[in-house]
Amino acid sequence: MRTKISKPIKVNVVTLGCSKNVVDSEILMGQLQANDFDVEHESSKNAEIVIVNTCGFIDNAKQESIDTILHYAREKEKGKIEKLIVTGCLSERYKPALEKEIKGVDNFFGTHDLPLLLKTLGADYKHELIGERLMTTPRHFAYMKISEGCDRPCSFCAIPLMRGQHVSKPIEELVKEAKVLAAKGTKELILIAQDSTFYGLDLYKERRLHKLMEQLAAVEGIEWLRVHYAFPSGFPLEILDVMRETPNICKYLDIPLQHASDNMLKSMRRGITREKTISLINTIREKVPGVAVRTTFITGYPGETEKDHETLLRFLEEMRFDRAGVFTYSHEENTHAYTLKDDVDEETKQRRLDELMQVQQQISYAVNQNKIGTTCKVLFDRKEGNYFVGRTEFDSPEVDNEVLVEAQHNYVRIGDFANIKITSAEAFDLMGVTV
Ligand code: SF4
Repeated sequence: MRTKISKPIKVNVVTLGCSKNVVDSEILMGQLQANDFDVEHESSKNAEIVIVNTCGFIDNAKQESIDTILHYAREKEKGKIEKLIVTGCLSERYKPALEKEIKGVDNFFGTHDLPLLLKTLGADYKHELIGERLMTTPRHFAYMKISEGCDRPCSFCAIPLMRGQHVSKPIEELVKEAKVLAAKGTKELILIAQDSTFYGLDLYKERRLHKLMEQLAAVEGIEWLRVHYAFPSGFPLEILDVMRETPNICKYLDIPLQHASDNMLKSMRRGITREKTISLINTIREKVPGVAVRTTFITGYPGETEKDHETLLRFLEEMRFDRAGVFTYSHEENTHAYTLKDDVDEETKQRRLDELMQVQQQISYAVNQNKIGTTCKVLFDRKEGNYFVGRTEFDSPEVDNEVLVEAQHNYVRIGDFANIKITSAEAFDLMGVTV
């Protein structure tokens, strides 16, 4: 007797927030696919089940997550989807309130509930899939989450509330994951965590990021290894030697500093001073000549005076970071800073952000002018209109500068490297030709 083969259930996974959430969605999708679900990422096609992986970091991100949930709740009302599931940081942080206030959601899960979420869909969590995931980034680059959670006391940050304490993944597991990714065509591996420099302290009782970098860089096929989310206080200098000595480790470091006024750094509980920060950045530049330093700052933190702001402006002018982003302070419940008065008004926050970004734009423009006439190894991510768009080793996807090459007169393969001679430069983009 012929058995009726049921069509695989269609699942659409929607990811909000940071690259760590991207990895979580990819792992979830890998598990669903292994359980014979037909899984897509942010598909416009109808799906029986929609899973929204939310962000709960700061106000704007929370609002975007709520709007996305409401959008799919309306789709469900219209009968376009059968089941709506919400997971990720916002759900971890506000589950009771969300359950009360938002109708139409079948289940809310936290950030550590993957096996439970799968069980709810009648699927099993497959341990043998560790290191496997369904990629959502272009095949040639991948994020690698080396740990979960954070032990730092930063006063403004709600992440430890949503992600828990710091838990490093064993080196063997990460090397296995890198081999699987390289076999699938990954050439650029981007190491991410809440605090990548804390790596190993829990598991090996010592910092082991340098050892991890060495082993991942040795994986065949990995042509670029990039480090994000370093923490300034207790910074493991040994990673700089590995970065300098290992050709396929990008001379690039993302190290959020958040502020430069000692008054603010103390209140933010960052465990470092302006002087120590300057000496650290100088050491990083001495030990890794030509390194690109990316950082981020928060403006408008409780108690921030014009004098504090001026200190940060002068610091930015003095340190000339290759890449810098600025966020306005968001008053987050249950964080230490929430006990302080959010006394900098939105207009002042925005004015200070604009002033900081104006300084950074001028620095970035000047830094890029010096690149004209040089030849850079560029990894091409996509074709956009008449241009191939790629990045140098000094640029991470989605956050840093891009290199534009006219498609009419140059040919490069997406997902491949090419040597590009830089012919002109803007504040955040470079233009060039193949050589
Ligand atoms: S290092 Fe600080 S800012 Fe970063 S996730 Fe941890 S607590 Fe938050």
